[in-house]
Amino acid sequence: MSQNQNYQTHEYDVLVIGAGGAGLRAAIEASAAGVSVALVCKSLLGKAHTVMAEGGIAAALANVDSQDNWKTHFCDTMLGGKMLNNWRMAQLHAQDAPQRVKELEHWGAVFDRTKDGKILQRAFGGHTYKRLCHVGDRTGLEMIRTLQDQGVHRGINVYMECTITKLIKDGERISGAFGYYREDGRYVLFKAKAVILATGGVGKSFSVTSNSWEYTGDGQALAYEAGADLIDMEFVQFHPTGMVWPPGVRGLLVTEGVRGEGGILRNKAGERFMFRYLPEGSKKDFAETDEEAAKWVDAAVSGQKTEARII
Ligand SMILES: Cc1cc2nc3c(=O)[nH]c(=O)nc-3n(C[C@H](O)[C@H](O)[C@H](O)COP(=O)(O)OP(=O)(O)OC[C@H]3O[C@@H](n4cnc5c(N)ncnc54)[C@H](O)[C@@H]3O)c2cc1C
Repeated sequence: MSQNQNYQTHEYDVLVIGAGGAGLRAAIEASAAGVSVALVCKSLLGKAHTVMAEGGIAAALANVDSQDNWKTHFCDTMLGGKMLNNWRMAQLHAQDAPQRVKELEHWGAVFDRTKDGKILQRAFGGHTYKRLCHVGDRTGLEMIRTLQDQGVHRGINVYMECTITKLIKDGERISGAFGYYREDGRYVLFKAKAVILATGGVGKSFSVTSNSWEYTGDGQALAYEAGADLIDMEFVQFHPTGMVWPPGVRGLLVTEGVRGEGGILRNKAGERFMFRYLPEGSKKDFAETDEEAAKWVDAAVSGQKTEARII
């Protein structure tokens, strides 16, 4: 590190901006390749949004429903995205997820178990089979704890409470990033051969959100200002089980797992109202009446049908 009177300068092979699941995993991979790695986060290490993930990690391990496989996971993902998804990303995700879950387990994550000792999987909205590997309703916490442990023991240098405000360019090439420490406003410059953006989402664009103050789309803005094109920015996940009232719980998420387990949404008149908002063409995939929903739940509980497309 060098210290100019106005700012510190650090030099690394790889700079990862963001210390959620994505950033930590990227930092571990870079470090495993033998290069020097810095990891920067806006809040404390371990506080990223990944911690809040409740329902679990979708991976076609087929531990509970033996018919499951990556191809069905891929189909579910494409159908969920109304075929607008980047199919290659969806394919890689479906193919690699089981390996990533096993890797987490190997690194010390303790998942809930089936009676015969395999990783337990639960039903979830949009998934044909029971596929969500979980740790109660605190899967994200276990994930981040595990990745953090791996990262820190590999010697990755972590810069906490440090907000990156600009990517530095050398001609057309990204050569680092500039930011400040939130604690006292000190400036900091990172020079790096490669910069990875993993700054999470844009949830704070909405007045009611489960996202914390950190999720202001910084990575997207940094990339855009540096000349990148942004695509698919309109695709934001809305949970129908987010709380809006009473005020004390506004923005809290009731895990989507409750719907996977057969929970049904009703309005204050007791009506199942979500069906009204389904696009034409997809109504056949969902239970319309209580009776139909009850049959689906029975089928799911008895293991004949595990689709959780009940609204
Ligand atoms: C309540 C809730 C429940 C969820 N449940 C599930 C679930 O059950 N299953 C599932 O698969 N997904 C779930 N998700 C979604 C999932 O948690 C996220 O998609 C995932 O955690 C995103 O990980 P990430 O690493 O991309 O970003 P994050 O975990 O959001 O991390 C972003 C990182 O970037 C840092 N950062 C941001 N801006 C800057 C900046 N300018 N400078 C420096 N650092 C910066 C932040 O400090 C943080 O460290 C849930 C999300 C929420 C909110």
